[in-house]
Amino acid sequence: MNDDLRELYQEVILDHSRHPRHFGALAGATHSGQGYNPLCGDRVAVYLAVDGGRIADIKFEGKGCAISQASASLMTDMLVGRTIAEAEKLMGGFLHLVKGEDAADLQGDDRERLNVMAGVSAFPMRVKCATLAWHTMKSALEGGAAAKTE
Ligand code: ZN
Repeated sequence: MNDDLRELYQEVILDHSRHPRHFGALAGATHSGQGYNPLCGDRVAVYLAVDGGRIADIKFEGKGCAISQASASLMTDMLVGRTIAEAEKLMGGFLHLVKGEDAADLQGDDRERLNVMAGVSAFPMRVKCATLAWHTMKSALEGGAAAKTE
């Protein structure tokens, strides 16, 4: 990755962490989940309103490092309005991407937008920060059990 691109990605991450999208509680949430990353101390709670198999609205609350909060913000921004099936595909692709695995399931705009987080694959401790919100979202969709980091 060249330096300009790296700088741009860092700016995107800082922007999301300083001005998180969809931040706050969600009245009328149908699903919620809470996640904690003990290695870094990051906490994330996600709330979603699912209507007719589609994610009608998402909010999150949390505190922790810039990566964990930026990743949560980016995730809510990208998942709102999608069907559950689309969301699951995107979540799977993101987890592959940040673990440095084959992320062929991410394409086009999705790939481009999530590429800002791809750099964390080089830092195993940071992968847990980046994936916290996504694991929390997964568990919220599956019924709301507390998310584990892996
Ligand atoms: Zn962290």
